[in-house]
Amino acid sequence: MPVEEEAPPRWPSRVTVCEVGPRDGLQNEKAVLTLEQKVELIDRISAAGAKIIEVGSFVNPKAVPRMADTDEVARRIKRLDGVEYRVLVFNLRGLERAEAVGLRKAKLTVSASRTHSIKNAGKPPEEAVKAFADCAEYAASKGITLSGAIPTSFGCNFEGRIPIEQVLSVVASFIEIGVRELSLSDTTGMANPRQVYEYSRMVRETYPDITWNLHFHNTRGMGLANVVAGMLAGVDRFDAGFAGLGGCPFVPNAAGNIATEDLLHMCQEMGVQTDYDLDEVISIARYARDLVGHDTDSFILRAGRNSDLVGSRDEAPKN
Ligand code: ZN
Repeated sequence: MPVEEEAPPRWPSRVTVCEVGPRDGLQNEKAVLTLEQKVELIDRISAAGAKIIEVGSFVNPKAVPRMADTDEVARRIKRLDGVEYRVLVFNLRGLERAEAVGLRKAKLTVSASRTHSIKNAGKPPEEAVKAFADCAEYAASKGITLSGAIPTSFGCNFEGRIPIEQVLSVVASFIEIGVRELSLSDTTGMANPRQVYEYSRMVRETYPDITWNLHFHNTRGMGLANVVAGMLAGVDRFDAGFAGLGGCPFVPNAAGNIATEDLLHMCQEMGVQTDYDLDEVISIARYARDLVGHDTDSFILRAGRNSDLVGSRDEAPKN
């Protein structure tokens, strides 16, 4: 029998790395940064090449005190042309705050897991999305673009593996209220590369006109492998956070986001363009790590880049 020729993998020539450290990272750290430090981190990461930055969250300050100054952060950051400054909102009030400080992009979050959604939002996912219809209307009237994030798209600490049908149902609800940009998010760090590949293929084939984004935490060491699986399934937008800060209050021993510098370094080694200045991002990550005052889940901060090794050692590695 003739051997069937396998198609070579189709690597993307370029991907967009969205910086979520100022929100997802800092929100889950014990250290409380000053307004000036937050603004500095955001301004440095935009100057280093970030095209999408999640600057904070408009949530009840009593619930998440670390995000209480997001209005002021948004007012003070240097807005660069071509950079999308995004904020997380939970209701119409949050969206009005975004509008008041001139932000043009807001993200809504609805968990794919029914249990997680009911615990978090008090309703099952489809109803939670429907409850955002007022936000969608308001956003459209003010020229604000909405994106939707779907945490626990792959696995939930209450329900285990989330079936793709459940994810597609939440996706359909988001599309119904007019959201055109969606993120499958692995808040719990339970996704595996094969599942990411299959879910990404499925959502892209079912909804080819939607802009797809993937969001991984590195809790079980599968973060970058999951990115590669997403790339092979044709996704070209990935969230990451400088220094891999953070965790998640709902998930026991959760790790932070995949580190921006780890993802950029991998892309550079793979010949995938990102338009970031990696040296500067490493310097920002080091600064962020110093600000939170503890070691973080960043391989590059620990080991340096491949290129740092070349010419720096006389001896061959021992093993
Ligand atoms: Zn996250």
